[in-house]
Amino acid sequence: MIIEPKVRGFVCVTSHPEGCAANVKEQIEVAQASGKVTDGPKRVLVIGSSTGYGLSSRIQAAFGCGADTFGVFFERPASNGRPASAGYYNAAAFEQEAQKAGLYAGSLNGDAFSDEMKEKVVERLKKEMGPIDLVVYSLASPRRTDPRTGETFKSCLKPIGQSFSSKTVDTDKDLVHEIGIEPAGDTDVHSTIKVMGGEDWERWMECLAENDLLADNFKTIAYSYIGPEVTWPIYKNGTIGKAKEDLDRAASVISEKNSAKSGKAYVAVNKAVVTQASSAIPVVPLYISILFKIMKEQGTHEGCIEQIVRLFRDRLYGSDSVELGDDGRIHVDDLEMKPEIQEAVAKIWPTIETENLRELSDYEGYQSDFLKLFGFGVEGIDYTVDVDPETALPGGNW
Ligand code: NAD
Repeated sequence: MIIEPKVRGFVCVTSHPEGCAANVKEQIEVAQASGKVTDGPKRVLVIGSSTGYGLSSRIQAAFGCGADTFGVFFERPASNGRPASAGYYNAAAFEQEAQKAGLYAGSLNGDAFSDEMKEKVVERLKKEMGPIDLVVYSLASPRRTDPRTGETFKSCLKPIGQSFSSKTVDTDKDLVHEIGIEPAGDTDVHSTIKVMGGEDWERWMECLAENDLLADNFKTIAYSYIGPEVTWPIYKNGTIGKAKEDLDRAASVISEKNSAKSGKAYVAVNKAVVTQASSAIPVVPLYISILFKIMKEQGTHEGCIEQIVRLFRDRLYGSDSVELGDDGRIHVDDLEMKPEIQEAVAKIWPTIETENLRELSDYEGYQSDFLKLFGFGVEGIDYTVDVDPETALPGGNW
């Protein structure tokens, strides 16, 4: 069949296996070209490894550090002629490339929040990999069932304390318009912390520790975002910001519990990039479109893989100590947050509207990055050729 993009709001419900495979290969090339991280990790577990920052982390671990990797993700296989989710094809393409390069790559597809998944991963790691020296926690999910209580929590993106109105872009209609978002209730804050906070990260680390699967001097990292003031009511100071603060708490607990092994947990603040998770946040796609225009003009633009290469090479590894900001976190958002970049964004922000969207921002770059997430608009792929979504890029024994 001919697979075409079918965009519904902020998701694309189809994906192209060959386009996804080409994206993975392109990221591998970036990781390889950046040179090998000589003191990098050798055995890496990535939780949320099929798209976005987690996928790039797995690629950099394998192809920038030569590590064996184990990936956990929640993706949909192809069925009844319907393409698999992009993350499914990405994971399959990654495994193929890792095998070709002689690197071990194991994966499991299912709910990372569940105890069952943790047990299955432990079993596989014991048999196939041994103690892990880096755990990357990169989940972005709208809901989580806590296996200890059976209760399901839904995360939300709401301001706290007062309602918020701002410009945003409707990416379906290419319209800049005003949105108003009502403030969160207490349940919203609590639920978002349960889904996107540090509790599940801690449970993963406890489970690995109990099973002797953490190497001496191991590192573990979870990803956060701060961004510019225009997004603070909905991000940093909103429900998701509270969940991100909880990652800081969890990092301290994990480091403390593993001090005998000199294990360390870090929170890295990354830059805004186009991923399935970030495209769902109000206001952020408009900010990203402006940011990309300015950072591209200044020659400092980075996507997921460039950020993660820098995180591994210049922050986590490569020197005896990990450089932390005054807030105790690792920062790879330094280029995004440079005053001259933020001043340029702030100058454009009040003037941007539907009529000048393409002139004042890199909305086209945003849109093409969005389609690329699903394997569309990728250079070198002939989209007029028939592909069988079920056999083109089959998954492994997941
Ligand atoms: P993403 O949507 O691209 O990736 C999410 C990953 O989580 C996928 O691999 C998905 O399969 C997996 N996942 C979701 N639910 C799961 C479940 N129940 N079980 C197993 N796997 C599951 O998201 P992303 O943007 O790469 O976000 C990853 C992290 O990076 C998040 O913590 C996010 O807040 C953070 N971050 C993102 C940005 C950005 O601009 N995108 C910036 C800074 C920090």
